[in-house]
Amino acid sequence: MPHGYHTAPVRNDEKGHWKSKILHSVQDDRHGFVIWLLEFGAFYIMATLPASLRQIALFFERLPGIGEKTANRLAFYLLRLPDQDLQDFARHIQQLKARTKRCSDCLNLTEDDVCSICSDNKRDHGVITVVEDVIDLLSFETGNIYEGVYHVLHGRIDPLNHIGPEDIFIDKLLSRVKEKGANLKEIILATNPDMEGEATAMYLRDRLNEIKNESGAAFNVTRLGYGLPIGANLEYADYMTLRKAIENRNKF
Ligand SMILES: [Zn+2]
Repeated sequence: MPHGYHTAPVRNDEKGHWKSKILHSVQDDRHGFVIWLLEFGAFYIMATLPASLRQIALFFERLPGIGEKTANRLAFYLLRLPDQDLQDFARHIQQLKARTKRCSDCLNLTEDDVCSICSDNKRDHGVITVVEDVIDLLSFETGNIYEGVYHVLHGRIDPLNHIGPEDIFIDKLLSRVKEKGANLKEIILATNPDMEGEATAMYLRDRLNEIKNESGAAFNVTRLGYGLPIGANLEYADYMTLRKAIENRNKF
């Protein structure tokens, strides 16, 4: 061990400090260079791709959750598909908007005038679950937990984004409720449990109660129960979830 190691520790520390500083700065430079190289590489790849492939990749990049790398990978994947598969894919995309329309009863998406749920006589047409979007309806259907029918609002009341009750399909729901009258047993308000979803549910509750009072109909207006998710730990539950869970507690 060198003699000076113990006699001049501070000096050695300083040396070490400067060494690590120089090393870090080299590493930083290297890091910056690698990033630059990757960016340049990506730009170079995009610039050298044939225009048709680049257009497809740019289109994929516009889809939600798709980054540049995945977009490129998908575009290359399409190129490797058999001609017939690619033609089928293109035809389906072309027909997508022309064929898809809203169900005349519940506004679910369908290719017919009335969707498969509304035309199913085995379902309970006396119970309507009101959802914000078709994707929410699909969640109920995937779980196979519900036998009633739906009403899709295609949005929710959101004053900050200038979306009022007249901008979503609330009037259509109200006229449907009036039409059904005495045949209606329950309307389940299944808008999302956030600020806008709650505001929409409260507005609907008031309007539906008005119809009940005017017409003397006997249907119930209910709201989805909130609480703790299965397998949750109380320790990590937020205050609002716990509050809703205790408000909606059941006899055990
Ligand atoms: Zn329908």
